[in-house]
Amino acid sequence: MNNQTTTATDPRWEHCLRMISSNISREQFDTWFAPVGFVSYDEDGQMLTLSVPSPFIREYIEEHYLRLLRAVLQQQYGQGVRLRYEVKVDAINNISTREDGTARSTSTSSVVRRDGVNASPRALQHLDSQLKADYTFENFVEGDSNKLPRTVGLAIAQNPHQATFNPLFVYGGSGVGKTHLVNAIGLRVKELHPELRVLYVSAHLFQVQYTDSVRHNTVNDFIAFYQTIDVLIIDDIQELATMQKTQLAFFHIFNHLHQNGKQLILTSDRPPVALEGMEERLLTRFKWGLLAELEHPTQTLRRDILCYKIRKDGLRVATPVIDYIAANVDKSIRDLEGVLTSLMAYSVVNNCEIDMALAERVITRTVGVSKQHAALTIDEILMHTCHFFCIDRDDVLSSTRRAPVVQARQVVMYLAQQHTRLSTTKIGAFIGKRGHATVIHSCQAVTQRLQNDEAFRQRIAELEGLLTQ
Ligand code: ADP
Ligand code: MG
Repeated sequence: MNNQTTTATDPRWEHCLRMISSNISREQFDTWFAPVGFVSYDEDGQMLTLSVPSPFIREYIEEHYLRLLRAVLQQQYGQGVRLRYEVKVDAINNISTREDGTARSTSTSSVVRRDGVNASPRALQHLDSQLKADYTFENFVEGDSNKLPRTVGLAIAQNPHQATFNPLFVYGGSGVGKTHLVNAIGLRVKELHPELRVLYVSAHLFQVQYTDSVRHNTVNDFIAFYQTIDVLIIDDIQELATMQKTQLAFFHIFNHLHQNGKQLILTSDRPPVALEGMEERLLTRFKWGLLAELEHPTQTLRRDILCYKIRKDGLRVATPVIDYIAANVDKSIRDLEGVLTSLMAYSVVNNCEIDMALAERVITRTVGVSKQHAALTIDEILMHTCHFFCIDRDDVLSSTRRAPVVQARQVVMYLAQQHTRLSTTKIGAFIGKRGHATVIHSCQAVTQRLQNDEAFRQRIAELEGLLTQ
């Protein structure tokens, strides 16, 4: 008999809102429920239709407030009430969609059917990509330690539509060229595909923008904006490791872009496996594409970069001096640049040549000289450690799980990480073909034990003393 549809407003829904607001904080209510609108209630079908400004709001509500929502809806509309969402005009794309949720308020089943897309995209506003103009491929010197990420980066820039490596996850220590490389990819994409929307953003800025959007009740706009990007570059993603709410927003953006074949490029100072505090579902997604490590620059690459920069700056430096710098400034390319800048400054101020004496002085003052450490090889570390613990070298390289062998093996990996410039992948390959995750885990185990076990700490200090004397 009651085959009518109520529209515009409904006292029962108003009541639901009041009940919800008395159960959550004002800020939460303003962010997540204030933008939800009543559309209609079909008495016969017991179907309540609500409008939400973006899929993100719907997903957030379902993930965090499902029980509360279900309880208040059942109280007002009866046990059998079903809920459907309409995603209303999103501010940036001007796209309106409708989404059905079946019996959302009465069961946790999450059938979502997209039953109509009425797209009438408005011309998107011009976007400043925030890319650094001089971080190009032309300025990015190639070497063994960066060959793979560089080649993959070039392939992506050629063909960003293909999304073969999606996401590209570039990781490596500080100053090895992550920011430069991902910028170069972005610049090349813009050059070859000017129609694409490319955006570079540091994870820190992303986090600040997200927090601001929560404060100003504009989370929808924040999410919607990021969902318009074709190539999204987020630098230093490890900074989101403890930011759970930002991770959730990023999760939704990631899914949207990935599903739509848009390219994501992420950098991190460590591989996903070592990103403690990052949600598992994000870590899984990071591994969907390609993990590419930028390793510590080899001496040859350091030398090539020095030569390149010296030539570019119009300097004159004798070859033995270049070799000396390349041999001793071995941690990062950023340090290498720092030393070169200091050398230039000294030579200009004192009106002198950049010679060996000046190079030695500057290096000692800026980065220190660690010749002994740099000269240590993993083979020497293995030999000394086996001798120290009276363990057979072959056992360490084997798969045996005997406790004393496991300990020695972990110590070798730890010391190799501390005293050589080898990547975790190379250390793992050397210690009996083990993966980099095992190396990271072993190093963490040793570090933890060093903190908690004084006797162990003294033993390792003794061993390190023997290694570096
Ligand atoms: P990261 O982001 O890994 O900390 P950056 O990308 O900021 O490192 O690099 C540090 C500095 O070293 C930058 O000035 C960058 O231009 C330079 N650099 C890094 N890799 C190279 C390279 N292969 N060739 C030339 N310069 C490089
Ligand atoms: Mg960086």
